[in-house]
Amino acid sequence: MNIIFLGAPGAGKGTQAERVSAKYAIPSVSTGNIIREALRNGTPTGLQAKAYIDAGKLVPDEVVIGIIKERLAKDDCAGGFILDGFPRTIPQAEALDKMGIVIDKVIDIEVPDEKIVKRMSGRRVCKKCGASYHTEYLRPAREGVCDNCGSELTIRADDAPETVLERLRVYHAETEPLKDYYQKTGKLVIVEGQEEVEDTVALVMKALEA
Ligand code: ADP
Ligand code: ZN
Repeated sequence: MNIIFLGAPGAGKGTQAERVSAKYAIPSVSTGNIIREALRNGTPTGLQAKAYIDAGKLVPDEVVIGIIKERLAKDDCAGGFILDGFPRTIPQAEALDKMGIVIDKVIDIEVPDEKIVKRMSGRRVCKKCGASYHTEYLRPAREGVCDNCGSELTIRADDAPETVLERLRVYHAETEPLKDYYQKTGKLVIVEGQEEVEDTVALVMKALEA
């Protein structure tokens, strides 16, 4: 199964993508995580992306399309995959179509803007492996420490409130039109993001089984 997760930054699509990945044993591909890893490793792609991420802007289409092409060509994607954070623009969706990739379901997680800003302030990320947590909704076993690798948790620079507002603006302008794009193919399912992670997981699983 090939699945896309759509939604505003901080709507929880990364967490949901991870859960579906574990259940269906298919990889979750997060362009944000790939870019942040490239940044940590100081690769040319990472350096190129830094200014855009820090400003809350989208990384140029040709850069992320290149990243996705390379990633989806790997063996582990042969039996299906989940896209978390791609596509984010119409040209990115068109690039996916041109690659001949057939999408089975597009899950759009809806959370009102007012809630997004509040949620983002609690978001934490592992410095080393990139795993995401939340001070309220997704606590690590030990405060400030990553369950996966034991490294320290930090706040992402682009989760600062001013940057979050810009990311929301970009989301509405560039990414939200994708709902229409996939509505037309009959693949879109809208899931209302719930207060509790597990409640959203249940709705997402139901949507995938339908
Ligand atoms: P969130 O979903 O919380 O916004 P991500 O980790 O998915 O966070 O993305 C972080 C940043 O990485 C984005 O603000 C953007 O700069 C860049 N990015 C990730 N995916 C894409 C994409 N498909 N197109 C352009 N930029 C992207
Ligand atoms: Zn970690």
